[in-house]
Amino acid sequence: MTTAAPRAAGRVLPTMNEDGSRRWVRPRPSPGRWQTRRRVVAYALMALYLAIPHLRMNDKPMILLDAPRREFTFFGYTFLPTDTLLFMLFLGTVIVTVFLLTALFGRVWCGWACPQTVWMEYLFRPLERFFEGGTNGSLAIDRGGNRFHPRRLAKFVAYFLIALVLGHTFLAYFVGTDQIVQWVQASPAQHPSAFAVMGFTTMLVFADFAYFREQTCTIACPYGRWQSALLDRNSLIVAYDHRRGEPRQKGMKRRESTAGDCIDCGMCVQTCPTGIDIRDGLQMECIHCTQCIDACDAVMEKINKPRGLIRYSSRDMLAGTARHLVRPRTVIYPLALAAFLGTFVFMLSTKAAADVTLLRAVGDPFSLDGDGRVVNQVRLRIANRAGSDREYRIRVEVEGHEGTVVVPVNPFPVARGHTETTSFFITLPRDAFSSGEPEIEVHISDGSGFDQEFPWRLLGPSAGDHKRTGAAGAAGGTP
Ligand code: SF4
Ligand code: SF4
Repeated sequence: MTTAAPRAAGRVLPTMNEDGSRRWVRPRPSPGRWQTRRRVVAYALMALYLAIPHLRMNDKPMILLDAPRREFTFFGYTFLPTDTLLFMLFLGTVIVTVFLLTALFGRVWCGWACPQTVWMEYLFRPLERFFEGGTNGSLAIDRGGNRFHPRRLAKFVAYFLIALVLGHTFLAYFVGTDQIVQWVQASPAQHPSAFAVMGFTTMLVFADFAYFREQTCTIACPYGRWQSALLDRNSLIVAYDHRRGEPRQKGMKRRESTAGDCIDCGMCVQTCPTGIDIRDGLQMECIHCTQCIDACDAVMEKINKPRGLIRYSSRDMLAGTARHLVRPRTVIYPLALAAFLGTFVFMLSTKAAADVTLLRAVGDPFSLDGDGRVVNQVRLRIANRAGSDREYRIRVEVEGHEGTVVVPVNPFPVARGHTETTSFFITLPRDAFSSGEPEIEVHISDGSGFDQEFPWRLLGPSAGDHKRTGAAGAAGGTP
C-alpha cells in the first residue's frame, strides 16, 4: 500500500509545489523601459566579467584572489599575508558600502549587477527560449512531455559550452589567466588536480544555470535574508501600490466605481523570475529586477490608466508619507564608511615599498661555536611591495664589540609582490653578554628609495651563567 506524500497547507516556496516537487519558473519576458536599461547594463557587465581577469593595472592583474598564497590583488594593489589590518579595512569599506547602498537603493545589486541575475536573465533564459520555443511558463517541449527532445538536448550542449567559458573565467580570478592558458594547453594527465578543479567549476556553473537557477537567489544567497535588517521604510524598493490597486477585480466582475486599478491579469506574476507575486508585499525572494514594473506598465497603458501601479517606491511613500533621505542609517553608514575608507587610504599611502620582519632562529635562540663565542642566527623576511623586482642590501652594525657578521646572500633578491626569507649570523665574544643583551642595527636598502634600519637585541648566556661558568673556570684554573 502506498501512502501519498503529505501536502503543505499552502505554497511554502515559490519554487516548490505543495506536494514538495520542484516548481519550474519560466518567466515571460516583459519588454519595457526598465528591461531596456537593464539589458544595456547587463551586456556591459558580461563583457566586464569576462574581461577583468585579462585586464592589468600597475603591471598586475586587476583582480586576482590568490587564496593558496593568501595574496589578494585589487586594482593593481596586492594585499600580502602581512596586510591583515589593511585587508580588514578594505573588507570593512566594501561591507559598509553594501549596507549604505542597500539602505538607499534597496537590492539594486541583485536586480542589476549580480552575475547570477545577469547571466541567468540575459543569456541562459533567452537561450532556453531560443532552443525550446515559447515565451512563458508552458514551453512547447513541456507540453509535448518529451524530456529528451533534441532541442532541449541542444540547449544543454549550449549551456555546457557557456559553462566551460564561465567556469574557466571564474577560475582565472583565482589563479590568473596565464595559469589557465597553461592548463588548457597541457594534457590533463600533467595536471590532474587542476583539471579536476576546472571540471568541477564548470559543472558547478552548468548545474547552477541549468538546474538550480533562481533557487540560488531564493534559497542559497544570504544577502536576501539580510534585507529585513538592511532595509528600512524609506529604502527604495520595487513595490505594488495597494492603495491604488485594490480591490483588484478582473473581467466581467469588474465594476469601475469600486474596483482598484489592478485587473488581476497575473502578468506581474508570470514575468517574475523568482516566481513570486509582488502584490503580496515586500518579500525576501524579490530581487528587484523591475520586470513586474514593465509588465504592469504595459497593462496600464492598454486599459488607459497611468503607469506605475508597480514602481520603484518606498514603504513610507506607499503609505502616503514623504521619503526621508536623512535617517539614522544614512548618517551612521556614511560616517562608518568615512572612518574605514579614511584609515585605509591613510595606511595605504604611508605604506613602505617593502615589509621587513626580523625573526629569531627556530629552536635554540643562540649557540656557542668551538671557541666558546656566541652565535645568533637572525632570520630576515622581506615582502617586496614595489612595482618591480628588487635586490635588498643588508648591513649589520654591531657597536662596542668585536664581532663577525656573515650574510650569506647579499644583496638579497625578492621578486615583485613576493615574500622571501633569508638568514644572517652574528658572532660575538661571550663577555659581550656579561652586562646584558647587546643591541645591533640592521639596515635594509633597495637602492631605489627604500632605506630603513631596525634595532635587534641579541641573545646569549645570562649574567648568572657567566658568574657560574666564571666561578667554574677559576676553580678549574687554580692549582
Ligand atoms: S500586472 Fe498589474 S494589473 Fe496585472 S495583476 Fe499585476 S498588478 Fe495587477
Ligand atoms: S517581484 Fe518584480 S521585481 Fe521582484 S523579482 Fe519578481 S519581477 Fe522582479
